This record gives sequence, C-alpha cells and structure tokens, in this order.
Amino acid sequence: MDHYHYEPLRKRMVDQQLKTRGIENDNVIDAFLRVPRELFVDNTYRNLAYEDHPLPIDQDQTISQPYMVALMSELAGLDQTKSVLEIGTGSGYQTAILSLIAKTVYTVERIKFLQAKAKIVLTEAGYTNIQYAHGDGSLGWEEHAPYDAIIVTAAASEIPKPLLDQLKSLGRLVIPVGGSYFQTLMLITRVDDHIERQAICSCRFVPLLHGTIE
Ligand code: SAH
Repeated sequence: MDHYHYEPLRKRMVDQQLKTRGIENDNVIDAFLRVPRELFVDNTYRNLAYEDHPLPIDQDQTISQPYMVALMSELAGLDQTKSVLEIGTGSGYQTAILSLIAKTVYTVERIKFLQAKAKIVLTEAGYTNIQYAHGDGSLGWEEHAPYDAIIVTAAASEIPKPLLDQLKSLGRLVIPVGGSYFQTLMLITRVDDHIERQAICSCRFVPLLHGTIE
C-alpha cells in the first residue's frame, strides 16, 4: 500500500478513536493526522497499523494503542516552546507525535536494538528535533534536565524519584503506575517541592525494567 491508501485510515483513526473519546487538543489531533503510523510497525502488521489496539514490535515490546499515545501526549501539556523527556522509545511512534507538538524531544530506551531501529525510521522520515539515549530511563536523563514534561511509556511499580527531580516546577509527569497486569495512568504535577497526583484511567503497559540490553 502506498502513502495515499493510509491517509483515509489515519483520518478515520482520529475521528473514531480519538475525538469520540475526548481528545481535543488541536496540536495533538494535527500530529496524528500527519505521522505515518504504518512506518513504525513491522511489514506484516501494516494493514493493522490504524486499528484501535497495541501491536507487537520486536523484542516482546509493543507499540501503544493510538488513543493511549494521544491521551498521554495531551496530558503532557506541550507546545512549541517546551521540552519533553520520553522514557521507552519503543517503535518511535510516540516520539514522532511528540516531535511535532514540542520544541525538543529527549528519548531514552533500554534496548539498544529498538532504539537504533526507531532512530533510523525517525531520521529517514525527517524528524530532526529528537535526541536519543540508550540507557535505563528510570534514572531519567540528567544532562538535559529539567524538563517541561516527562512521559513514561512502560509501567512502574512506583514513581522513580529521579524523574520527579528532573521535572520543572509546574512540569508534568505522565506515567502508568501499578502491578504487572494493570496499572493506573497518573498525571503528576510538580509545584515547587510539592507533588500533586491525579489518577486518569486504568491502562496496561509492558513493565519498566531496570538495566540496559545491548
Ligand atoms: N511509546 C512506545 C512504547 C513502547 S513499549 C511505542 O508506542 O512504540 C515500552 C518501551 O519501554 C519498550 O521499548 C521497553 O524496552 C522500554 N523500556 C522499559 N523499561 C525501560 C527503562 N527502564 N528505560 C528505558 N526504556 C524502557
């Protein structure tokens, strides 16, 4: 299928999966209409790229459901002046969405192979405001901190302290917190030294693991 066959699927995804569930930020909607999700899934799954569910990528990981990517991106409260740290590059799809709605995206992935693959796809597709690190994202990425927002795309049993420390005041951390099977998507706002927590919805992510894989 060429580029033109995917365009109606992309529009249908936005109308049926995002707008009906309350995604309303124009920048987020616009980014979803522009990013070719089919580039971020393996060839065998390309016909399913715009369906309403996650899909497998390499190394037993998943590309998140479009709605979850949209919700997290919206909750991060980004605009063209803001920086965002993404933990869990995975396929690079959310990285692409964030690249269109923020000034700079810093993305950390623990599996080197996945990061390298995502970097190739993103670079070939022309996304330039992204910086990549291979590392354990539960430690954040100190070098570029503090961030306006941090999005964690893997589930944590508790909120890693370095992430709170690397958030600006009034910065937002979006993170699934809970057990191995189900979690609660949390929006954490840092107001100076005080932390505000808001539970958004239940969700299911692969686990945030320690250490790195070459
Ligand atoms: N946003 C991605 C989600 C991929 S799944 C997408 O839609 O494609 C979650 C990713 O988090 C996996 O690639 C996994 O390897 C990565 N991950 C898990 N624990 C991590 C950690 N501590 N640091 C960095 N990445 C981690």
